[in-house]
This record gives sequence, structure tokens and C-alpha cells, in this order.
Amino acid sequence: MSLADKVLAGQGALVTGSTSGIGLGIARIFAQAGAKVMLNGFGKPEEIAAARAEIGALMGVTEAPYSSADMSKPAEIRAMVAEAQAALGSLDILVNNAGIQFVAPVQDFPEEKWDAIIAINMSSNYHAIKAALPAMLARSRGRIINVASAHGLVASPYKSAYVAAKHGVVGITKSIALEVAQSPITCNAICPGFVRTPLAEAQVAPLAAKFGISEESALRDRLLEKQPSKRWIEVEDVARMALYLVGPGSGSVNGAALSIDGGWLAA
Ligand code: NAD
Repeated sequence: MSLADKVLAGQGALVTGSTSGIGLGIARIFAQAGAKVMLNGFGKPEEIAAARAEIGALMGVTEAPYSSADMSKPAEIRAMVAEAQAALGSLDILVNNAGIQFVAPVQDFPEEKWDAIIAINMSSNYHAIKAALPAMLARSRGRIINVASAHGLVASPYKSAYVAAKHGVVGITKSIALEVAQSPITCNAICPGFVRTPLAEAQVAPLAAKFGISEESALRDRLLEKQPSKRWIEVEDVARMALYLVGPGSGSVNGAALSIDGGWLAA
């Protein structure tokens, strides 16, 4: 499938957490494939403006539509979906991608961090899908992708909230896949290992400090300990998996939790 084919022409896509990292990469490839994309996420005003201008240029407009909705706030999520439906004409593709991380032993894990991770990384998927699905069902058309993680399938210590939330994301993905199975709509999860993004790169320096080792060693021997490839996964590779899931020929892939993890789950 070539991007030049514009396989997503005429389709509207909402990608949460798309001012940075994986979400921005998915927004980029969807726009390159011809979709109209609404962005969402936090960041400095100039970063958000740059993302809107970049994705807008790919869409042939000055700036891509953008929602500042906070994924921990259900009313804002509902308003964002309504805004996307109006701004894009139709919401054919929903990517639940926004996420945060916090690492600590469970006995020290702050309650507010637990609540925020469960809300942003997991419950937001429920609120967005609940708001977007009725119009998809009415139009007999839709693709839903939930960005889970290798940590949606296996655990690591000190990430209790993240692992719980991502297992929940894989669970809701399967449940919704069954609910829409006899329609043309699909719902799938992507389960990346460590991807080179601000969220993951921010974990390197604290590991180096904790173990008194170089950042190079912290990356290879600690962070990527479970990733047999011992290299970062690139954002564009995750984005290409997302494009496959929303493009032609993937209509029978439903309820899957697709790994892109350098061999992590094989070990
Ligand atoms: P990132 O920090 O680069 O981007 C996260 C995005 O989510 C940003 O746009 C941020 O503004 C947005 N966001 C955070 N809190 C928000 C909120 N309350 N409301 C709205 N937007 C919010 O991170 P990333 O690495 O690109 O992560 C994207 C997704 O991929 C997350 O769900 C993450 O758990 C998942 N993931 C990442 C990796 C990795 O190694 N980077 C691996 C597996 C899964």
C-alpha cells in the first residue's frame, strides 16, 4: 500500500494525544494517506501550532483541526468527539492513543497518579468509543484503534497502574470487537515495546541515576532489558501498523492485540 494511493481520502480521523510521539506519527501518516485529521493533546502553544501546521499542510489546509480536551475528563472527551464529527464531516477513524507513565513500587505509588493513569490511559478509551460508535454504526463504517502496549499483555515491576490500564485497554478492545463483529467496523489494539518518543526516552536518565550507570547502558541493559532487538522501535513503524489497520484489506482483523515489540512477547 503506497501513501500516494491516498487510501484514506474522504475519511475523518481523530487521534488523541497527537501533539507528540506515536500519536503525531499516526496523524502524519493518516494525513499523508489522504485523511482529514483532528489533533488532540497537550504541549507548549508553539509545539501545538507546529503540529497543526505540519498536519494541515499534508491535508492542504493552513492548520489541522485541534481539540484541547483533557482525556481524564469524560465531558471534554464527549465534546471532542462531537467537535471532530462536525469539523471532519464524519468520524470514520478513532485512535485512542493519549497516555502517561509513572514508575514506583506499589507501596509508594501516589493515589493521584494511579487515578490519572487509569483515567487517561484506559477509561478515556471507553468514553471516546461510547461517543463515536453510534454514528459509525449508523453509517456502517468505522475503524477503532486503541494504542495499548507490550505492558497490555505482560507485566514489569513498578508500573502497576500502567500495566493495569493497558491490560484493560486490551480487554475493552476485545469486548467492543465482539459487539461490532457483524458490522464493517473493527476495533483493534496495537501493543508496542519501547518506541523512541518523549514518554519512553524520559525513563532513561532516571534509570542511569538510580543504578549509577551511563545512559547508554541504562537504555540497553535496563530499559530495553526485555526487548530482544535492543533497539528503539521507530514511531513511523507503529504508524504504518495503524495505517494497515484502517486501510483496505484489514476488515477481518478484529479484536486483535498486535505486537510491535522487537521480539519482547516471544521470549
Ligand atoms: P508522548 O508523551 O510522546 O505523547 C503522549 C501524548 O498524549 C501527548 O500528545 C500528550 O500531550 C498527550 N496527553 C497526555 N496526557 C493527556 C491528557 N490528559 N489529555 C489529552 N492528551 C494527553 O508518548 P508516546 O510514547 O507517544 O505514547 C503514546 C501512547 O503510546 C501512550 O498511550 C503510551 O502508553 C503508548 N506506548 C508508548 C510506548 C513507548 O515506548 N513510547 C510503548 C508502548 C505504548
